[in-house]
Amino acid sequence: MKYHLDTIPVWDACHEGGECLVCILEAKAETAYVESFLGGSVMEPDTRIEVNDKGFCPHHNKMLFDAKNRLGLALMTHTHTIETIKKLKKFSGRSSAAAVTNPAPRLLDRFATKEKNTRKFARDLAEWIRKHVNNCIICDRLANSLNRYVYTIIYLWEHEKEFRSALTASKGFCLPHLAMVLESAADNLSNSRIDDFISDIIPIELQNLDRLEQELKWFTLKFDYRNQDKPWGNSKDAVQRVLQKLTGKYME
Ligand SMILES: [Zn+2]
Ligand SMILES: [Zn+2]
Repeated sequence: MKYHLDTIPVWDACHEGGECLVCILEAKAETAYVESFLGGSVMEPDTRIEVNDKGFCPHHNKMLFDAKNRLGLALMTHTHTIETIKKLKKFSGRSSAAAVTNPAPRLLDRFATKEKNTRKFARDLAEWIRKHVNNCIICDRLANSLNRYVYTIIYLWEHEKEFRSALTASKGFCLPHLAMVLESAADNLSNSRIDDFISDIIPIELQNLDRLEQELKWFTLKFDYRNQDKPWGNSKDAVQRVLQKLTGKYME
């Protein structure tokens, strides 16, 4: 899939110089989406329908809640609740009605076919609920933005010498975003170019993982009383930077 290019934010994130430039882009896009859903854009009919349908995942509900626009959040949550009740009733209606009206069937019924159906209903409903809870309009939009940014990174690496040098001098990517970058390279670069790309990226990753391992080691050694007066160097925030490198998510 081809995405349109979004070069300015990618260049800006590259200049910021963190442990992963995609994490910087992700954090900015995520904040912007949270703000936009609490602002005017949510009143657009198409967006409103999508919010009613999908709602937000637990992580984004927490971000929306912490943004302290309780009325905006209440209005969206109210219509999403109505939609959830409607869907739940529909789901229950097309399955064994007894499972809803009589959740504890009589002992004798336990071995009957009806019981088997009820068991299937319980499993299907559990699966539906799990999907429903994790459905999220912000996650969907964020995934799309990240795919576009990663596609732009590959494009800039291939077409702009300056970007290739900047990327080679950067600290690389966190592991989850490295996986995205590698997949995008595999999808979009020719055979010879992908070789060059791997030769650029993998050494950066390994060098930076080694550096972080040393920084984290010094962080732990600083707890030894013999080291307490020695300088921290770069290790003071090593824990959050190593966690970011290993599992993603920009921690400020
Ligand atoms: Zn990252
Ligand atoms: Zn989400």
